[in-house]
Amino acid sequence: MDQCIFCKIINNEIPARRVYEDESTVIIKDISPQAPVHYLAIPKKHFAGIQNIPSSEMELLSKLFSAITKLIADESLDQNGYRLVINYGEKAGQTVSHIHVHILSGRSMTWPPG
Ligand code: 5GP
Ligand code: ZN
Repeated sequence: MDQCIFCKIINNEIPARRVYEDESTVIIKDISPQAPVHYLAIPKKHFAGIQNIPSSEMELLSKLFSAITKLIADESLDQNGYRLVINYGEKAGQTVSHIHVHILSGRSMTWPPG
């Protein structure tokens, strides 16, 4: 996806603060953090949402969540709690059409989300 900002980050065409990377996943710091801890876990393959992933590629989700689990352990995010968020579509607030999981921690959060 030529114009996708996350594909450009994955391909090192634009910089980002990487905190984790393996063959299928990258985790970066969000450029506009909404909490003291705000990371984005991004599969390297471009899909807009989970419903766009073919069943033959579903393994990328388990790899994505394995990477998130490692980060939670490395940074002891479970000590203070964390929130994982996937936005899909304009109404849900998605601004980058490449699936990503927000990892938010470090402050109290309210429910329901806005
Ligand atoms: P969405 O709104 O699609 O759920 O989340 C997109 C997230 O990507 C936003 O939180 C936004 O701050 C972040 N973001 C957008 N562009 C960049 C960028 O160039 N670098 C980084 N690190 N984060 C970005
Ligand atoms: Zn992309």
